[in-house]
Amino acid sequence: MAFIDTHAHLDGEDFADDLHSVVQRAMDAGCRCVFVPGINVQTSEHLLKVCDSFKGFLYPMLGLHPEEVEADYRQQLLAMKEFVYESASNDSPVKIIAVGEIGLDFYWSRDFYEEQLQCFEEQVRWAVELHLPLMIHCRKAQAEMVRILRKYEKNLVGGVFHCFTGNEQEARELLSFQNFLLGIGGVSTFKSSHLTNVLHAVVPLSRIVLETDSPYMAPVPMRGQRNEPSFIPYIIKRLADGYNIPEEDICRQTIENTTSLFAI
Ligand SMILES: [Zn+2]
Repeated sequence: MAFIDTHAHLDGEDFADDLHSVVQRAMDAGCRCVFVPGINVQTSEHLLKVCDSFKGFLYPMLGLHPEEVEADYRQQLLAMKEFVYESASNDSPVKIIAVGEIGLDFYWSRDFYEEQLQCFEEQVRWAVELHLPLMIHCRKAQAEMVRILRKYEKNLVGGVFHCFTGNEQEARELLSFQNFLLGIGGVSTFKSSHLTNVLHAVVPLSRIVLETDSPYMAPVPMRGQRNEPSFIPYIIKRLADGYNIPEEDICRQTIENTTSLFAI
């Protein structure tokens, strides 16, 4: 089995003690590489360091996560822009492969509604300028997210709508963006989830990538535990059942989708 985990927060506290074992288990399970998303300015340098020490296996992305946006967002953006542009240059010891994770999240609160919109749009502009794909987080905000992304879609390389869990109509709307893919993770394995039906109905296999969102969202039967890239085979199995095709086809096609969008 071979696969790529396109979204795992392996730079976080949860993996501080045993990252080497986590990486080894991922490799043993068939993981080719893992994309590590950034969330804020404070952790960006550490993230780059971690990815540098597993060069060729951990690939960094940097951006300001919507839940990290605060009142002084202009300061946050200024500092983040420096990190993003520096680590996107050819001179950087470890190069970012995407801007992210960025997006909008109005699930818990709308306190920084305007600030979130500003931050998202500004970071989308960086992706256009740097010709980098986007790693997008969107919760309870698809209308706003789509409205902003439409303005730039012709100039964007593409991206991933990470942790997709929507319905058929939402899937269709997201797939109307060329070169954008849906990130599918542990939710697909939950008994209450209709996700595999939605995928089978309206999402061609050529438009999905795999992700864990480690340490969150562990798939069944690991639900509730710390998630890690070596759990991806549970997702592959569920998708193979849902699409009614062999697991190898899920592996081959999702790797192809990933490598055609990201410069790895
Ligand atoms: Zn994430």
